[in-house]
Amino acid sequence: MNEMKRENIESTKYDIPPELQGQVEITTIDKIYNWGRRSSIWPLMFGLACCAIEMICTAASRYDFARFGMEVMRPSPRQADLMIVAGTVTKKMIPTIVRLYNQMPEPKYVVAMGACASGGGPFKEGYNVVSGVDRYVPVDVYIAGCPPTPQALIHGLITLQRKIDAQSIKKVRWYRKEPIEAVPIPVLGPDVVDPHQYAIIHEQAKKLHEEAVNQAAETAPAETA
Ligand code: SF4
Repeated sequence: MNEMKRENIESTKYDIPPELQGQVEITTIDKIYNWGRRSSIWPLMFGLACCAIEMICTAASRYDFARFGMEVMRPSPRQADLMIVAGTVTKKMIPTIVRLYNQMPEPKYVVAMGACASGGGPFKEGYNVVSGVDRYVPVDVYIAGCPPTPQALIHGLITLQRKIDAQSIKKVRWYRKEPIEAVPIPVLGPDVVDPHQYAIIHEQAKKLHEEAVNQAAETAPAETA
């Protein structure tokens, strides 16, 4: 076990006799559980636009994110626990992205790679682009840049590992008794409708309808007897 990995799991509370060091480790459930997960994250294999090219470079030999145990990019969401949203999120694509997210088992994480995935990027306010994937799925790490370099992606992945290191098995959502609700799938239309907003949309539509009815009643000619 190399020094970096030992640092992640060893407990500093107990002194290990010198003759046993390197053979025995004392740790906590949280540390060993997180260490296992953070060292074998399997990303979902998909890309949306130019940022995906940088993600592919990061997986290739020069940068090689196999060092993080992440080289097994999975073509199925059932086998993936990390969604790297690499590229422009269009209104046509977001229902599929949310569906894929829902199909990933817990624990799962999302990285918004680049300006487009984080907030719409150069296409923000465009007729066909979503202003950030975090409007629909929860994002754990945002990576700045257009596109972010492979180094920036690696920095984002290390940040995600740190986040995993800080989680406690007692508090994580996937071990709670309450069932985890799936994220509502947005509806593709003239503009994407966010199902989170259904109640507000319904209220506003009702109000507008009532106003129109009242206005029509006021302007209608009075009935003659
Ligand atoms: S952030 Fe820049 S490089 Fe990445 S998908 Fe958008 S336009 Fe392309």
